[in-house]
Amino acid sequence: MSDPGGDINPRAHLFPEYREAIRELCQRFDRTYWIQIEQQGGYPEAFVQALTEAGWLAALIPAEFGGGGLGVTEASVILEEINRSGANSGACHAQMYIMGTLLRHGSEDQKRRYLPRIASGEWRLQSFAVTEPTTGTDTTQIKTVAIRRGDQYVVRGQKVWISRVQHSDLMLLLARTTPLADVKKRTEGLSVFLIELRDAAQRGLTVRPIANMVNHETNEVFFDDFAIPAANLIGEEGAGFRYILDGMNAERILIAAECIGDGYWFTDKARRYATERVVFGRPIGQNQGVQFPIARAYANVRAADLMRYEAAGLFDAGRPCGPEANMAKLLAADASWEAANVCLQTHGGFGFAAEYEIERKFRETRLYQVAPVSTNLILSYLAEHVLGMPRSF
Ligand SMILES: Cc1cc2nc3c(=O)[nH]c(=O)nc-3n(C[C@H](O)[C@H](O)[C@H](O)COP(=O)(O)OP(=O)(O)OC[C@H]3O[C@@H](n4cnc5c(N)ncnc54)[C@H](O)[C@@H]3O)c2cc1C
Repeated sequence: MSDPGGDINPRAHLFPEYREAIRELCQRFDRTYWIQIEQQGGYPEAFVQALTEAGWLAALIPAEFGGGGLGVTEASVILEEINRSGANSGACHAQMYIMGTLLRHGSEDQKRRYLPRIASGEWRLQSFAVTEPTTGTDTTQIKTVAIRRGDQYVVRGQKVWISRVQHSDLMLLLARTTPLADVKKRTEGLSVFLIELRDAAQRGLTVRPIANMVNHETNEVFFDDFAIPAANLIGEEGAGFRYILDGMNAERILIAAECIGDGYWFTDKARRYATERVVFGRPIGQNQGVQFPIARAYANVRAADLMRYEAAGLFDAGRPCGPEANMAKLLAADASWEAANVCLQTHGGFGFAAEYEIERKFRETRLYQVAPVSTNLILSYLAEHVLGMPRSF
């Protein structure tokens, strides 16, 4: 059997110590582990715990609070390698991509109370509640309200697609604190809160799981006069939309890196199978009809990877990176989906067999065209804010 060669990622030499450590950890959770978790509809608790104990999910927390003190570039490499190994960062990535809201806008008291506990793994910050059933992507129209009563806010409303609530100790919540009719701009009057979830069910929070296409723990969440201490408001009341937007560049870059990890995984798997599988007396990869789509998918993954490093570099230098972060997410999500399709096609019928893992990762990577932000919304941002074309909504 011929070997098609070594690592196809020319940037695998960047941060080799992180990549090797993540690969080693992921090897302990092999194909059988992920197949079993999927069959049980379970949460990869042991995997997330191992990542937590090794400190990887605290990468962005400053060292003074017990975290890794790393930048978004390194964090993106961590998530890339998780997906590159065949695992799924979706079970635990939120702790990295929502961390910025607490780091940049949280008070010193909030940071001292929460960051060391998150860094040590005692508490998880894995839940982020923005989306609502009636308003979807039109975030400024959300109906969930938080009304100030003395030293508390009382929350009423409903969220949908809120992931990892059942495996998180903390949730970041976006709610309206000033009615839409009383603000000058629709982006005003929204606030962000950090909620402790441990006894939330007894205090008016109901969680209803949503069965979905991926084995992803995601839920409807109902707030029924749920009280939050006013001390858990992040930053200024009414400025929450800006805080959420601020965090989105990091989220886009990190998700792009996951897609790139997937893209390399699919391309590698496809080229290996194409080299090994013999039909009509020769490897299927000898046919250009099989090899060209794999080569094209690879080129697109590589191109997206360049945009991801550009965006991450700008982010870590504290420079504006909205266009680059959005383009990285768009290009990477497209490239990983193309690579997924090609990998499935290359494997013929075997691509559909659960034991090859392709169909699982095919479903997982498809999600990134829709969540955390759908492709159309990125295109709309680029068209209006980067290219200056007329606003469509
Ligand atoms: C598995 C999963 C996990 C998720 N986890 C979370 C989470 O943890 N927290 C959270 O807050 N949310 C979460 N989401 C929600 C996710 O962010 C939204 O599904 C996504 O932002 C799209 O919103 P929507 O589903 O309401 O679609 P809609 O807003 O209803 O849009 C439907 C389609 O129409 C398109 N569209 C809408 N308006 C326009 C327009 N003006 N121009 C062009 N196209 C348009 C969209 O691009 C989309 O393709 C999750 C979703 C899924 C599926």
